[in-house]
Amino acid sequence: MKLTILGYWGGFPFNGDGTTSFLLESDGFSLLLDAGSGSLLALEEHLNPVDLDAVLLTHYHHDHIADLGVLQYYRQLMPKPEQPVLPIYGHMEDAFHFEELTLAGVSEGIGYKETDQVTIGPFSVTFLRTVHPVPCFAVRLVERETGKILVFTADSGYLSALADFAKDADVLITDTYFLEGHENHHAHLTSKETGEIAVAAGVKKLILSHLRQDIELPLLKEQVTAIVGGDIPVILAEKHLEMII
Ligand SMILES: [Zn+2]
Ligand SMILES: [Zn+2]
Repeated sequence: MKLTILGYWGGFPFNGDGTTSFLLESDGFSLLLDAGSGSLLALEEHLNPVDLDAVLLTHYHHDHIADLGVLQYYRQLMPKPEQPVLPIYGHMEDAFHFEELTLAGVSEGIGYKETDQVTIGPFSVTFLRTVHPVPCFAVRLVERETGKILVFTADSGYLSALADFAKDADVLITDTYFLEGHENHHAHLTSKETGEIAVAAGVKKLILSHLRQDIELPLLKEQVTAIVGGDIPVILAEKHLEMII
């Protein structure tokens, strides 16, 4: 599968770059994982948004869904011939936001539960409820043909179960919002917690995302690297970063 980072800031867009959104492509299938602020413009540089095959949402905070409505309008106002209805996967614990996923003739909300195993095109997807002020789910995507695994923590405070959930992932993308010293936060991980989860999970590569605008990002990376050692490459998320997994 191919991963393209479209947005990576936590909370709000900054300096021309947007908030959480990733494009995953496999076998001609294109999946948008979260749709943060600025993601539609970033997506356009890689793919015509009408060619997107599905959207998967971890939760309904604005920095993860800000561009969803305009994505629906894009496909409504400039459709391609015989464009299929876009499936948008989201949890059903917030009726208001879940209903917004459906726009007649354009998109259809498809609910998932934590215990589900969902097939989305070439991916098998499982879920883990995270530590966050609103219902939020980490996602584990397995590319069925190759067995390659991408895990995204979504937004989460420290949760030991994330290590098992991310076990042996080829790539783990994390919500690493804080420098060391703010452990056990109710919503986001620190560098130290991220490093510990990555080591316990035995992941092959680690991408730090949901980055905070007012901290020293090289230091964040340094703190994680100090814990994971040289065996796990640590990458700060960047807009348009592409990676074959
Ligand atoms: Zn967030
Ligand atoms: Zn959130």
